[in-house]
Amino acid sequence: MSKPAAEKPVQSCRLTKIVFTLGPATQEPAVLETLVRAGVDVCRINMAHADHAWTRAMIRRVREVCQRVGRHIAILMDVKGPEIRTGDIAHPIDLKAGQLIDLLSEPGASEGGVPAVGVNYPGLGSDVSKGTTILVDSGLIRLEVVSTSRARVRCRVVVPARLTSRRHLNLPGVQIRLPALTAKDRSDIAVGVAEGVDFFALSFVREADDVDILRRLLSRAKSHARIVAKIEDQSAIANLDEIIVASDALMVARGDLGIEVPMEDLPLIQRRVVEACIRLRKPVIVATHMLESMITSPVPTRAEVSDVATAVDSTADAIMLSGETSTGLYPLECVEMMKRIAGKVEGSAPRHHNAELPLKSHKDRMLRSAALLAQELGEAGIVVFTRNGVLPQTLSALRASHCPIYAFTDRPQVFRHLLLSWGVEPFLMEFSSEPEHTIRDALAYLLRRGWVRSGEWMVVATNALAGEKIVDTVQMRPVD
Ligand code: PEP
Repeated sequence: MSKPAAEKPVQSCRLTKIVFTLGPATQEPAVLETLVRAGVDVCRINMAHADHAWTRAMIRRVREVCQRVGRHIAILMDVKGPEIRTGDIAHPIDLKAGQLIDLLSEPGASEGGVPAVGVNYPGLGSDVSKGTTILVDSGLIRLEVVSTSRARVRCRVVVPARLTSRRHLNLPGVQIRLPALTAKDRSDIAVGVAEGVDFFALSFVREADDVDILRRLLSRAKSHARIVAKIEDQSAIANLDEIIVASDALMVARGDLGIEVPMEDLPLIQRRVVEACIRLRKPVIVATHMLESMITSPVPTRAEVSDVATAVDSTADAIMLSGETSTGLYPLECVEMMKRIAGKVEGSAPRHHNAELPLKSHKDRMLRSAALLAQELGEAGIVVFTRNGVLPQTLSALRASHCPIYAFTDRPQVFRHLLLSWGVEPFLMEFSSEPEHTIRDALAYLLRRGWVRSGEWMVVATNALAGEKIVDTVQMRPVD
């Protein structure tokens, strides 16, 4: 007999998570509320464009909105990392193909009437050499180094455009020796720690050591925040596996990556990073330009729809909106569009799981059996209980399609970290000292909130008392 709660529409678990970037277009509480209700999972604050007062106010605002709506999302602070920029110039320079321009790490080192612009990196002259390509302003301007000295890098303009103040420089393939964290990053991180953000995304990670530096900083500050390494240059790709192992999650930051590597390499790199992250059981976000045209248009291009679909089909954990929600005209439409694309692609996936995942323990094998059983039953999914997030993360890495993972935890930070993981629907709940009560409470909660229907079969992976011993169990439980 069906119970009243079961007659409510069943909530559907979206497997692919949505990260949105907060900005002027979404900072008003009413707009934020529509996004939280629409189902965004993580709010990104990009410290390249945020000051501390705004950041603090926004973090508090997001939490207030979540509290009011009764749906909680995680907060990710994206710190800028090491970046080489040109300095201020009094007037824009209209560069011409073939002309010379000097990049000066010390004032006054230009000569011979060559126009010059300062750079904020004293090591530039020793890191580049004759023939090195320097890209300026997201690759709009291409320069080739003709000569270097300690204080001056003389370049020939290959692709010209107008050069304005404080433009970002990319040096594809060059190992720059800037520290992993700048003074600005450190002060931004201090604000994030004080406000209890859930994730820090670290830009321009080149090797595992960069992640370790942030890890030590967070540990000294007693922060539980997770580290998302942004993969955006060739060193990161060369050191991919060690970076994944050192991090808690990755971001394929296609904006800078598309400047640092040939554009045509991007799709293969994206696929490689997603596959490596799944193999090493770390969540991965595909970011940048996913619905770029929706910054000004209520509908995306067909190519953007396919791009989002490709990321969802690859079972990336999350897809990200940047300018689309920070400054765009249609933030809610972007979130709705991503949901529709994800729903379509996830719904059409064949019933399979990731048979390639290296299983390291009996627990892993048990979890795979639980996923297979849930798929076999074809009903509501798996219930798992966790204090550190490892079990749901392993289940997530198994990528069992059509098999939501309902992860119950009694730790708020674990609940929020799990918001980024593919297929995991986390819930915060007090655990009873009696395991059977905890299971019943979890199933009753899922029924009450419309996640499952009365009479459906769930798979429960949990430990249980067998006589004196605690044993791992996989159970089939009807919801009633
Ligand atoms: C990117 O480069 O794709 C990215 C996400 O980083 P940012 O927006 O900080 O440039």
